[in-house]
Amino acid sequence: MIPFNKPYCSGREQSYIQEVCQSTTMSGNGQFTKLCHGFFEKRYGFRKCLLTTSGTDALEMCAMLCELKPGDEVIVPSYTFVSSAIAFLREGAFIRFADSGKDNPNITVEAIEPLINEKTRVIVVVHYAGVACDMDAIMALAEKHHLLVVEDAAHSIDSFYHERPLGGIGHLAAFSFHETKNINCGEGGMLVVNDERFVRRSEIIWEKGTNRAEFYRGMVNKYGWCDIGSSFLPSEFNAAFLWAQLEQLDDIQGQRRHIWERYDQALRGHLPEGYCLPELPDYATNNYHMYYILCPSLKARTELMNYLKNNGVQTTFHYLPLHSSKYYEDKHDGRQLSNCDRYADTLVRLPLYYELKDEEIDKIVKLILRKLSHRS
Ligand SMILES: *Cc1c(COP(=O)(O)O)cnc(C)c1O
Repeated sequence: MIPFNKPYCSGREQSYIQEVCQSTTMSGNGQFTKLCHGFFEKRYGFRKCLLTTSGTDALEMCAMLCELKPGDEVIVPSYTFVSSAIAFLREGAFIRFADSGKDNPNITVEAIEPLINEKTRVIVVVHYAGVACDMDAIMALAEKHHLLVVEDAAHSIDSFYHERPLGGIGHLAAFSFHETKNINCGEGGMLVVNDERFVRRSEIIWEKGTNRAEFYRGMVNKYGWCDIGSSFLPSEFNAAFLWAQLEQLDDIQGQRRHIWERYDQALRGHLPEGYCLPELPDYATNNYHMYYILCPSLKARTELMNYLKNNGVQTTFHYLPLHSSKYYEDKHDGRQLSNCDRYADTLVRLPLYYELKDEEIDKIVKLILRKLSHRS
């Protein structure tokens, strides 16, 4: 069986974890955590980075920093992972779900604008598959209405909008290092603070509501309880694992690019009518997080996935629309989100991981082309 995903390992993870075992700091914010923060701050110019124990946690920190009041509204795409919404729901916000665009699953200005009212406080964007949303237009809309923008950059490491790195454009952003992402440490994430106003408070929330980080920098002579917060920082073991991967980022991205392009060369122009492949807007780069096919119908997708499974290839689909989920359907305002529903029904993700071999890609492609040329 060719699995859908195999988490990447560089081989250095064990020796860095061994270093942590022999050191005096095993809890968070030690040397490996600092190496990881520095990597992102230097390479992408992010104002402030804080590792978290998951992408979900980073989104929860974003929501806490937005200081929402009961009744405040947050606009979130429906076609995303639950965490993009639940982080804000936990803070008491009402979620207005927005539709995806026609050309790709990202949220659009056209979908966002009609949802803005006097209670709206935040727009959450998800750069699906690491492909940028139209950030200039979204930031301008947010500025016009005095809204905050949170980037769910869970898919988006090393990807860009024009020349600007994703995660560095909104007021706040969240990355994920879950094992399904390009870079992973099992479970992990990172908050990015781009707006100076949130820098100090982000560190306090990260450190259980205390100013301990300032204490360690020698800025105060004792630390204490200053604000709300939680235990968001991961241990040095996670950071050491992550560092072993970050060191290899260019190699990982190069290999993923090779796989993505091999799929694309073999499939683009060779699929029957009604089947579509990823399209990138000219302002977006590709970080090769995902390769997918859009099928003409749910039935066609189910048939393709079953055929591949019966021939030893595991594929997946996602997301189940959040607006019509069991948990939210009663709370949703009733609008149809037809693009979202279409992606949920028709998108199939192909295996894409560092160790995937050329022969395996060729086998997957051959199976797809064989199946689709013999459609009933
Ligand atoms: C993976 C993912 C998350 C959550 O990240 P975790 O690290 O698993 O908590 C949030 N949003 C999106 C779009 C994701 O793909």
